[in-house]
Formats: sequence, structure tokens, C-alpha cells
Amino acid sequence: MTEITRDVLIIGAGAAGTTAANDLRKAGLSVAVLEARDRVGGRLWTDVIEGAMLEIGGQWVSPDQDALKDTIAELGLETYSRYREGDSVYVGPDGQVHRFTGEMFPVSEATEKVIADITERLDAMVAEIDPDQPWAHPKAEEWDTITWDAWLREQTDDDEAVRNLAFATGSAMLTKPTHAFSLLQSLLMAASAGSYSNLVDADFILDKRVVGGLQQVPQLLAERLGDDVFLNQPVRTLEWSDAGVIATTDQMTVKARYAILAFAPVLYNRISFVPALPRRQHQMHQHLSMGFVIKVHAVYDRPFWRESGLSATAFSPYELCHEAYDNTNHGDERGTLVGFVSDQNADDLFTLTAEERKERILESLSHYYGPEAKNPVVYYESDWGTEEWTRGAYAASFDMGGLHRYGADLRTPVGPIHFACSDLAGAGYQHVDGAIRMGHLAASNIVASSRD
Ligand code: FAD
Repeated sequence: MTEITRDVLIIGAGAAGTTAANDLRKAGLSVAVLEARDRVGGRLWTDVIEGAMLEIGGQWVSPDQDALKDTIAELGLETYSRYREGDSVYVGPDGQVHRFTGEMFPVSEATEKVIADITERLDAMVAEIDPDQPWAHPKAEEWDTITWDAWLREQTDDDEAVRNLAFATGSAMLTKPTHAFSLLQSLLMAASAGSYSNLVDADFILDKRVVGGLQQVPQLLAERLGDDVFLNQPVRTLEWSDAGVIATTDQMTVKARYAILAFAPVLYNRISFVPALPRRQHQMHQHLSMGFVIKVHAVYDRPFWRESGLSATAFSPYELCHEAYDNTNHGDERGTLVGFVSDQNADDLFTLTAEERKERILESLSHYYGPEAKNPVVYYESDWGTEEWTRGAYAASFDMGGLHRYGADLRTPVGPIHFACSDLAGAGYQHVDGAIRMGHLAASNIVASSRD
């Protein structure tokens, strides 16, 4: 058993953990980062599959994500824009394919008006919400005890409008069925991106990518930490008291004055805390759960959709792949499409064989782009549900009523234990930007406390 002593122990080498560790180092504190996996990055994972570079996890950067943008700039990484020239595609309730430009789906005039009116109402509500404390809004309880779906259906009888409004925070973001989370949770998701309109604007929310892949962010941050990052070290036990912590993995023991849990809250219970965490944390952590989405990558010998004037941006709440985009790598002659299958659709697909699943997904993509979509040269499904150290995608959110009941305590330290993860963020919630913000916050709280 190797034994080491540091000022701060960071558990998890994702964007949050590597950010916190670098900040602490800069403040003159010594660190050790223990990572369960054999790689750095967590939900950021850029890999080459059958000769194609794929972003298996997170990849996009939006214009408001200042914390992430600053880190990207500081690390000397370059970004490029998602391809978006040409028409988008929408598949309506009757299965008919419509080409369109702009943000509004090509629906009937009446439905368009309903969508525009409710969007305006949502933007006004979101403007009143502080993403860092949505529970502080005077209507937090009321908005946290009605489901997102039920609230939308109270606003209108127009089913197509409801489905199009619902999926922006449902299938596309929280990746849970819209009856499984609250209006307040939905407003937080929108507030974390600045407004509901920003969230539904693909050109905003899916704006840029990093040349060479977004996993370079945690990788380069970890490189700066050198030998202080320890891979294949799942923390099994964390003893804690006012004097500090002792973490034990299968091979190491780390003593430190503080610890940061820098991973998804659904995994806290993988660690045996000695003594147990307080009652409040025991309760709160049980009300958080991971969403679930399959990210599908299909690589073709060329971006064939561009030849017919399509941008590849495609949406339909009636399709298995509810959204899909051009995901061609910078400087690549081949064309890559990325599609997403969310929540219950994803559950259902995993009851099928891999061959059947692929056929169903490519069939759905072909509804947007034509039959050529059925013949990729590389096909890959990111399945984060089977990843022991993540257990879903994209991130964790509260179930009904949990956000106003527990939200205020999410980031509150317990003795020497601090918490940092994208899933606890306000701005940048569930995104890499939020992970970095939470890494900075936990580190600055520890620096302040260490100087007391
Ligand atoms: P994580 O990345 O989950 O890192 C936590 C680390 O802790 C992991 O490496 C894990 O192995 C480790 N760990 C867990 N338990 C232990 C333990 N007991 N001991 C030691 N180590 C442990 N965000 C965007 O901004 N843009 C996108 O386009 C985007 N798309 C996404 C697509 C997919 C498919 C997924 C899965 C996510 C996407 N996200 C996106 C979300 C983004 O990737 C995450 O929000 C962010 O990377 C989370 O960073 P984190 O450091 O908070 O947590």
C-alpha cells in the first residue's frame, strides 16, 4: 500500500477535478488526484474508432461558456464552428419531411404562434431565475411540484407545440421523460444557458468544437499536475473529521486536510464514508439521478447531405433520433453525422440486438437525409449507461420536487469534504463549462478556508 500526504485530495480527473487541482497548486497547496478509470477526462473522451476520430462524450462549446472558453484559450487550443450552411430538416407528426431555415420549426401558422407565445413566457420566467439559486425564486415550490409536461399542457392543447417546446430541455438536455422532472428543473436548464431561446437555438448551444477534441482540456490540465494524478484508483473509503481526510483505494492511502468529490453525485454512494455523511446528504443524494441518451456517430466517405443543400441540422419529436447534426471533424474529407436517442427510446433500443439497434437508428437518420444515410463506413454508439464510473448521460438532475427542497445544500461542504461537478453547477449546468466553474469554486473555497 502506497501512502502519501497532501494538502488537498481530489477524487475524479474530469474537467472539474483537473481544474480544481490546478487552481489549488497555483495557490501553493499540494494535491493528489485519484481517478478510477485508466484515463483522464471522465465524460470527455476523444477516441479513434476504426480510423475515425470521435467525440464519445462532450464536445460543443457555446458563446456564453466563459469559464470553458477561458480554459481553452489558456491551454492554447483552437476551436472551429459546427457546419451549418443550408437547410435544416424537420419531420412532422405525419412523417412528412420539411426543409426549413431559421429557428422556428416549419409547423402550421397556429402552432407557430403558440410556440412563439409560450417561448416568450418561458424567457420571462427564466429571466427571473438565478441559475445559481433557482430555489430562491418566490415560486420555486410551485414550479418544482408540477411536471414540465403538465405545465406545457396547461398552456395549450396543441400537441405538436407541446412536443416541440418540451424536447429542448427533455430529450435534448436533461435526457429524461418530460413527466419525470419539474418546470423549475427545466427553467434551471434554460437559465444556465442564459434563456430558453438560447437553449433551443442550435447555432448558439452547439456553436463550436475544439480542434483535436475536447478531452484535451482535462488531459492538458492533468499533464500540468504530472505525477500527482493517479489512474486506476477508485476511492473505496473516505474517513473524515475536522482534522482532514484519509482516502483508501485498492493500492493507495492518501491523507489530506481537504477532499473534493469531483464526480457525478449519483456515484457518491460508491464510497464508504467513515463516519457516514449527514442525514441531509443521505436524503438529498437519493433524489438525484442520471439522464440517459445514446450518442450515435455515423461516418461517410463524404458529407453527402451538403450536396443537396442540407446543413444536416435535423429535429423531430416524432423520430427515434430526435436531433442530429453535421459533426464532420476539422479538415476531414469524410462526413460525420451525430444523432441522439434519448430516455425511454434509448431504454427500448437496448432491448434489441446491436444489429437491430443500428438498423433502427440508421433508418431514423435516413428519414432526415435520405437512403444514403443507411450506409456509413464507421458506425458507433456512445453508451454511457454501461460506464461504471458515470452510469448515464449527460448528467444528473433532481427528480420532482427535489430542486427546491435540497438544491441549496448541493454544494455545501461537509467538514473537510467539498463537492465539484457539472451536475451541481448554475451557469453551465450539466456542461463542461459548469464543471470548470465548480472546480474553480471548490478550489477557491478551500484556499479561503486554509488561510483562516
Ligand atoms: P466527470 O467528467 O464525470 O468526471 C468525474 C471523474 O471522476 C470521472 O473520470 C470518474 O471516473 C471519476 N470517479 C468517479 N467516482 C470515482 C471514485 N470513487 N474514485 C475515483 N474516481 C472516481 N457538455 C458540454 O459542455 N458540451 C457537450 O457537447 C456535451 N455533450 C455531452 C455528450 C455526452 C455523450 C456526455 C456523456 C456528456 C456531454 N456533456 C457535454 C457533458 C459534459 O461532458 C460533462 O458535464 C462534464 O464533462 C462533466 O465533468 P465533471 O468533471 O464534472 O465530471
